[in-house]
Formats: sequence, structure tokens, C-alpha cells
Amino acid sequence: MEKLDGKLLSAKIKDEVKALSDSYKQTPILAVVTVGDDEASKVYVENKRKACEQCDMSMMHFSYDESTRESEIIKKIKELNKDKSVNGIILQLPIPKKYNTKKILNTIDPKKDVDGLTDISQGKIMGGNSTFVPCTPKGILEIFDYYKIDLEGRHVVVIGRSDLVGKPIMLECINRNATVTMCHSKTKNLEKYTKDADVLIVAVGKKHLIDKTMIKDNAVIIDVGISRIEGKIYGDVNPDVESKASYVTPVPGGVGPMTVAMLLKNTMIAYELQNK
Ligand code: NAD
Repeated sequence: MEKLDGKLLSAKIKDEVKALSDSYKQTPILAVVTVGDDEASKVYVENKRKACEQCDMSMMHFSYDESTRESEIIKKIKELNKDKSVNGIILQLPIPKKYNTKKILNTIDPKKDVDGLTDISQGKIMGGNSTFVPCTPKGILEIFDYYKIDLEGRHVVVIGRSDLVGKPIMLECINRNATVTMCHSKTKNLEKYTKDADVLIVAVGKKHLIDKTMIKDNAVIIDVGISRIEGKIYGDVNPDVESKASYVTPVPGGVGPMTVAMLLKNTMIAYELQNK
């Protein structure tokens, strides 16, 4: 079994992003909008700030509390759309349920949509001509490329159907000529599918949902899940799969660091789009 080392690969990508950023006339700027008080989001935003600093990029943070009117958040995003110094804009999710998340996301100019979550970006993935692939699926694809994991003709099973991870990675795997099965909370007899997966991508958020009895010999296992339990972080996949799989992403240190690196990469793509 070989570990798919997202920490190492993301460090390499950050070096490349930094070199690119240093070669630009202006400092690339990422704007992050947060709404409410989600604890995990605070950690993620701080990680994004650190990553931007490491790569000689700037991060602007606009933080709103839960009493803020939706129109005020939309107004700020429209201002950021117009601001030529801002290259990428993200709305840190989740936001409180009272807001219309889709409406706020769709206010982001598709040329600055570095999280790839506007309807336009998502539609482009469907058409196989994406500009911005959402950061987590993009990170998984980078892992496949770096470790030369070819998907053509292989059976990829994706568990979890979110717009953020499951659906875009399903489409990107189809674009790479895989045969894809999508499983979710209503799937009956999950094992039937996981046992047949050459590549298993799990994005659910349930500690150790998958163990070695549920996978095929030599399967490639991509564990996206993150569950925080009593201060410890767990993936969706039990580490016992290591005795049976060919490749496994560790949690932490697999998909997570790749997600942040891809946000930086998407911001560079945005910079280039806006400055060509
Ligand atoms: P989500 O939380 O929006 O949805 C979870 C999905 O899991 C749903 O589609 C649901 O149908 C499915 N599901 C729930 N219970 C199931 C079960 N018992 N069997 C099969 N499917 C089931 O999804 P998300 O936003 O994609 O997040 C999924 C997990 O990935 C979370 O733990 C999240 O923290 C993590 N995540 C990690 C990263 C990273 O960078 N590592 C990025 C994004 C999300």
C-alpha cells in the first residue's frame, strides 16, 4: 500500500504558486466572505490566510454576523466583483440556514468564482470545459495525476452527492472515461457497490463508515471525510483498509491540504484570466 501524500504534494504546488505569484506585477488577492459563527470555518479561513501568505498572495476577510441582511452581503459581493484588485471571491460555507446560499453564491462573478460553486461554473463541469473545478475535487484529480492513477475504464464509486465534492468529482471522473456509480444516504446495500470499486471516493462525514471488509483487493481509496470527535480528527475510512488497498489518502494529510492548495491555484487562474 502506498500513501497518497497530500501534504507533500500540496507543499510542492504551493511552491509553484508562489513562484508564479512572484512573477506577477500585482499581488493576487483572494476575498473571503464569512457569515455567522461556524467554529470549523474559523479554522479553515485561518488556514487559507496562512496559505496565501506562504505564497505571497493576499487574503481579505469580510466577516458578517448572523443578524446581517442578505442584501448587505450581496452588495459587498457586487462591490468585490467590480474591484479590479480582487481576483478571487469565496463564500465560506456553511452559512446560517436563514440565508439563500445559492442566491448569494450566484452573485459571485463567474470569472472570480475560485470555489467553482456558481451555477455557471458547475454547468461548465457538466459540459467538460470547466474553468474553476471546486477545490476538493480538483485536489483529488491532482492526486490522480501526480500518482499516475489512470481512471479510464475503471469503476469509480463515489459516496456522497454534495455540490461541493460528490457531484463534481463524479462528473470529472466520467470526463476521464471512468465508469461511475454514485452512492448516497438512500443507497441500499452500500457494500454491494463499494466491494466492486477499483477507486472508492468517500465524502460523507461519518467516522470509519468504510472498513476493509467493504473494499476490493488493491482498490484506490480517497477519503474526503472529516469528523471531529473529542478534539481528534477522523476520516470516513477505517485505517484497517491499508492492509488491502493499493493507495490510500490519510486523514489528516491527504485530501485536506490539497483543497487549500487548489484554492490558491484557482486564484492564479483567475488572476491570469483577468490580466491577459
Ligand atoms: P455533505 O455533508 O453536504 O453531505 C454528505 C453526503 O453524504 C450526502 O450526499 C449524503 O447523501 C451522504 N451520506 C450521508 N450518510 C450516508 C450513509 N450512511 N451512506 C452513504 N452516504 C451517506 O457533504 P460534503 O460537504 O461533501 O462533506 C462530506 C465530508 O467531507 C464532511 O465530513 C466534510 O467535512 C468533508 N470535507 C472535507 C474536505 C477536505 O478538504 N478534506 C472538503 C469538503 C468536505
